[in-house]
Amino acid sequence: WNSILEVDSLSVTYETPTGGVQALRDVSLSLETGETVGIVGESGSGKSTLALSLLQYLDDNGQVTNGSIQFKDREIQNLPKVELQNLRGKQIAHVPQDPNTSLNPSLCVGEQISETIREHEDVTNQEARERMHEILKTVRIGDPEYNAERYPHELSGGMQQRVLIAMALSCNPELLILDEPTTGLDVTTQAKILDLIQELKDSFDTAIILITHDLSVIAETCDRVTILYAGEVMEQGPVTEIFNNPANPYTQGLLAAIPRVKEDRKLNPIPGKIPDLTEISDGCIFAERCEFSERDCKSGEITTEVVDERTNHQTRCRRWSDAIEDPIEPDIE
Ligand code: ATP
Ligand code: MG
Repeated sequence: WNSILEVDSLSVTYETPTGGVQALRDVSLSLETGETVGIVGESGSGKSTLALSLLQYLDDNGQVTNGSIQFKDREIQNLPKVELQNLRGKQIAHVPQDPNTSLNPSLCVGEQISETIREHEDVTNQEARERMHEILKTVRIGDPEYNAERYPHELSGGMQQRVLIAMALSCNPELLILDEPTTGLDVTTQAKILDLIQELKDSFDTAIILITHDLSVIAETCDRVTILYAGEVMEQGPVTEIFNNPANPYTQGLLAAIPRVKEDRKLNPIPGKIPDLTEISDGCIFAERCEFSERDCKSGEITTEVVDERTNHQTRCRRWSDAIEDPIEPDIE
């Protein structure tokens, strides 16, 4: 058992003038060395909050109210400041959701990468520059020497994403967190970035957390997947299990909503919207939108149930065997 990250019963609340937003509730997740885990869910399901809490990067009004986060058997929440600084970037690298906020507009990109390397490692300027050119080559930036001298605004969205991934990889992190790395890019560029992630996966030993709202991205790149809904893990397990044998109506709904042009399926989003996270009621968080829900789904605590122990496939649903028997199918028009 060589898990490098172990998140257990994590809950996060944001204090706001209108009440506490319970953005994550009882989230558990584990990651092994070299493994790629996808986190998927609709907007507002808590994906970024989960990523940020792993590095103690939550906004000031956000707070972990319960649970533990262990990175290589050490509790992140208790780390002294110096060690936390050392962890960030060096051992766990994070590419945040909005690339514009993470690149300095007044510094050429090569310099930004070299700076990151020098920050974390005791190297000469010359060594840092060489490493920077090397890593730009790794992310297939094309003519690293030329592009290193470019400023962020001179690069396309896809190139900027490559620079951010380069920056994240520059200190050989053990865990790489990518928050929506393909959002906002055109389809061709998206495919190229996914290819790059696939290559990195094959050639580095880095564990990856890949956050996306797009299940087809997960299918292409991940070993395991965690399905989040309104701050709770609805289902998790190996990608093949979740896609072939989804044991949660929410997952089934998401899968049915994937447009498949070839078969002329129309995008068929799950009706309804995420509930108000300031007032969490008893029972299943998805019950209001669920076509399998029965009266008892709306009361009591819904616990995680094991679908298959061998593959560690879990679901948070009382009706999961009904759902498996008669799954939600996409509307074919
Ligand atoms: P998206 O797909 O849009 O990026 P997400 O899954 O990353 O969504 P989060 O950004 O983690 O979702 O947000 C989870 C919930 O927490 C949402 O209801 C959001 O409005 C709320 N939230 C996030 N940050 C704050 C904050 N600083 N203060 C108050 N509420 C917040
Ligand atoms: Mg997000």
